[in-house]
Amino acid sequence: MTLKDKVCLITGAASGIGHGIARRFVADGAKVVIADLKLDAAQKTADELTAQGPGTAMAVEMNVTDEAQVNAGVEAVVEKWGRVDVLVSNAGIQIVHPIEDFPFADWKKLLSIHLDGAFLTTKACLPHMYKAGAGSIIFMGSVHSKEASPLKSAYVTAKHGLLGLARVIAKEGARHGVRANVICPGFVKTPLVEKQIPEQARDLGLSEEEVVNKVMLGETVDQEFTTIEDVAEVAHVFAAFPTNALTGQSLVVSHGWYMN
Ligand code: NAD
Repeated sequence: MTLKDKVCLITGAASGIGHGIARRFVADGAKVVIADLKLDAAQKTADELTAQGPGTAMAVEMNVTDEAQVNAGVEAVVEKWGRVDVLVSNAGIQIVHPIEDFPFADWKKLLSIHLDGAFLTTKACLPHMYKAGAGSIIFMGSVHSKEASPLKSAYVTAKHGLLGLARVIAKEGARHGVRANVICPGFVKTPLVEKQIPEQARDLGLSEEEVVNKVMLGETVDQEFTTIEDVAEVAHVFAAFPTNALTGQSLVVSHGWYMN
């Protein structure tokens, strides 16, 4: 299974998990689009990965909640490379509060980045995939696509929603050769998680060590964080899988936290 010369658009690819997926895909010879909020950060990542090869990378500035910017970014990719074979809708944020204190603006902001972002990027890429008669769409879900935790009402709601959207794409896309999947990681040490440790300690009345050992890793089989490389490998499998056999499925990647 190879992604050599495949055009792969990854949102939120200037940091964390998206960056790791981009690195894995470029290492396999793909043409990777680093889509992120700030062009300079995206360009820095694209330059770094192109230097590593053997694939190549380009940068686009893309706020995934901005329909015009999403459409313009996808058009720029098609203009340069002629098509889009793989979309990894990965951009995301975390905001934690008990529901009774959750600012409505923060609820809307989180849902917009995760859900509007997945919808808008999918909508922009699908016509190009349908035209080619093939494509793979991957959403970055979470264990929180299947499980709940206190303080994470908006995140759990959004991540559950992605399962539904992927299943509809799998059904609508099948006759055009387009597949859809959701990856559901456990805790991965990225800036998104580093930020949560003191916030959860404050809101749950725990020490930071307790947040890591009990809240984040307590249900794993080995007390280990899931790694960026773990998640990137699964993204590669879904993106490069040669048939429709896995379409509509989600896979939990979590060192045993939540099994189904
Ligand atoms: P991160 O903070 O390291 O990276 C997120 C990236 O998304 C950043 O580069 C940021 O600039 C970008 N981004 C944020 N808002 C954006 C927007 N509106 N438009 C475009 N880009 C935007 O976080 P991460 O941990 O790598 O998270 C990536 C994805 O993985 C998220 O969807 C997150 O929910 C999911 N996830 C993370 C973990 C974890 O433990 N880190 C676990 C499960 C799922």
